[in-house]
Amino acid sequence: MSVLPTSAHPFSIAAAFERLGTETAFEVLARAKALEDQGRSILNLGIGQPDFPTPEHIVDAAIKALRDGHHGYTGATGILALREAVCRDLDRRLGVRVSPEQVVIVPGGKVTMYYAISLFGQPGVEVLYPNPGFPIYESLIKFTGATPVPIPLEAQHGFAPSAAAVLERITPATRLLILNSPANPTGGVMPASEVAALAAGLAAHPHVTILSDEIYGQLIRPGHQHKSLLACPEVAERTILLDGWSKTYAMTGWRLGYGVWPRSLVATVERIAVNSHSCVNTPAQFAGIAALDGPQDCIETMRHAFDRRQQRVVAGLNALPGWQAVEPAGAFYAFPSIAGLGLDARTAQRRLLEEVGIATIAGTSFGSAGEGHIRLSCAAADATIEEALARIAAFRA
Ligand code: PLP
Repeated sequence: MSVLPTSAHPFSIAAAFERLGTETAFEVLARAKALEDQGRSILNLGIGQPDFPTPEHIVDAAIKALRDGHHGYTGATGILALREAVCRDLDRRLGVRVSPEQVVIVPGGKVTMYYAISLFGQPGVEVLYPNPGFPIYESLIKFTGATPVPIPLEAQHGFAPSAAAVLERITPATRLLILNSPANPTGGVMPASEVAALAAGLAAHPHVTILSDEIYGQLIRPGHQHKSLLACPEVAERTILLDGWSKTYAMTGWRLGYGVWPRSLVATVERIAVNSHSCVNTPAQFAGIAALDGPQDCIETMRHAFDRRQQRVVAGLNALPGWQAVEPAGAFYAFPSIAGLGLDARTAQRRLLEEVGIATIAGTSFGSAGEGHIRLSCAAADATIEEALARIAAFRA
């Protein structure tokens, strides 16, 4: 076998890719794996994915699809039966009526994000996004050449944006407003009253399209409520809903998500899909139908577990000097302040992993406003969380 020589060829790649960011969670995952391979005991509270397996009836539906011979391409927007199942689910959960023609099935929730930001972002345009927030928002905004305009989220307000804070940042150049509730990395949930106030305020700004990332929409803690932007008549016709199966049904590795799009954008979105991935893998789409149409108790089971663990992590950290955590209202993260440790977030991330074997993510991976915080995923076994709390208690900054 011949091996190609190492190339030092001076490639000249498109400038936009120099501006593309990344998601630190995948880097931490790789480092945690490398340490494990060296025999270290690593507790993974880094990557954000449920520690539950995909429910069996969903797995069975994919196997059946393969056995039934569903091996070929589907239409670029996904099979009709799946898009219809999405419509039924939205009607049931949110009381929202959309047509299957507005639903575009994509390989993971992230893809709707990529489409929406690249459709609206370009030089001269402003895009509002939460900071701290999912890192891919800022990365893609910069990629398009648009100007990222952060909406700062603060611990004392439960990391939820107020309608006023969003509205005051809108200018004639604003084209896209990205919202994420319940939120990664903070677990913040925008109260229904603020969602309604925001929708009412946006009536005065018809030039703004909304990307509402509701991928954690069913992971809400007791006492809190999820209100969808798509359920607000003032903005429904210019809201792109991002959702999917990854978090709700423990299906991160299946790569299955969807967007609900304004009708006039669907043809363009379909063309992007045809130009990139053609369609989502067919058995995963059949699994998606089984998930939406089948028993929903798996969500309740996960929600209970995440709630219990978030409670435990917050209480456990707040009992330690230097740590301060607010109660998250949803998702499965805790986003404590580590300001009292005297370490910056990156250093805390590195030292927690290297010295006590706990994978976490620095708050700055989610934007500049995340400094002084780290994210811990509570989608890990109770025993892992207990051991992590014990190791953190022994950690000396
Ligand atoms: N949106 C948010 C806020 C997320 O946290 C994630 C995943 O971590 C995604 C979207 C992407 O989900 P998927 O894995 O389905 O692409």
